Amino acid sequence: MTTHRQPLDSVLETIGETPLVRVHAGPPGVPIYAKLESFNPGASIKDRIGKYMLEEMLADGTLKPGGTVIEPTAGNTGIGIAVAAGQLDLEAVFVVPERFSLEKQQLMRALGATVINTPTEKGMGYAIDRAHALAEELANAVVPQQFENPLNANAHYETTAPEVYEALENEVGAIVAGCGTAGTLMGMAQYGREYDAQTHVAAVEPEGSLYATFTGKDVEEGSYKTEGIGTHDPSTNALFDPTLVDEVLRFSDRMIHEEMQRLAAEEGQLVASSAAANSLAAQSVANRIADGSIDAPSDSVVTVFADSSERYLSKGVYRSYDEWEG
Ligand code: PMP
Repeated sequence: MTTHRQPLDSVLETIGETPLVRVHAGPPGVPIYAKLESFNPGASIKDRIGKYMLEEMLADGTLKPGGTVIEPTAGNTGIGIAVAAGQLDLEAVFVVPERFSLEKQQLMRALGATVINTPTEKGMGYAIDRAHALAEELANAVVPQQFENPLNANAHYETTAPEVYEALENEVGAIVAGCGTAGTLMGMAQYGREYDAQTHVAAVEPEGSLYATFTGKDVEEGSYKTEGIGTHDPSTNALFDPTLVDEVLRFSDRMIHEEMQRLAAEEGQLVASSAAANSLAAQSVANRIADGSIDAPSDSVVTVFADSSERYLSKGVYRSYDEWEG
């Protein structure tokens, strides 16, 4: 495994090869491991797709040198794309619904990108339409559109999943990940199911999100504080393939908030809400592997901690539940 100890030429070379660390909750005999994605230079899992999508699009000519990348994004993808765009001599423009954290928007701007805000109540669908409209106005502009671009999932199929399988010498029983675009889960699930078709795959979302409707569940839509995962409009989640998913696990914001605080206090893990949701889901799957109700090919559960709590301190992640703005 690359260790990044040798001198490197570009920050892009530090993307990926993140640590895989034990989560010390869950039953004995079924270890849970999380990929710590805040170790990437832009401090989230989305650096992987920023680098991968732009390099692939430059290689196949979809994106011309000196071109502009326009992306509707909650923030982390913007930072990931901005890191890569800056080093690949591309311009970056992001269309961001207002509710997403200010820290992320400041970082995108610091990296040289332009940020355009859209009203929160108009949702992500509106941000996506704005991005496409802008691309039509500009010459040599491309919208990677992480919500439907297979390169998003491929980045995880090509990097995140093989790193995990190598570290665990292929002993992976279950893959658990919260879904925003679902790129992470789909890329890892495809890799896992190709390795062993019995690999258990669980999607994760906060209560109020509608991914569960893909598995036929009648769930109610509502707002949630958890950031980075979930959907209000499943018609925009083109990457999500229900045939690769055994179940969609859902947790309340309150449980997720409690787990976020536990991870910091007990495990030294300064991770954000999506990681806490993944941790709860991984424990649920591990418990069921332990009691035999899930028949997994190996006694281990793998998940990702997509980013760090530091990115959300201004929203009060470590204050009381009611003071957490989400
Ligand atoms: N966690 C965080 C903090 C995120 O920003 C995202 C991306 N929106 C995810 C999880 C979900 O990743 P994906 O889009 O690959 O489903």
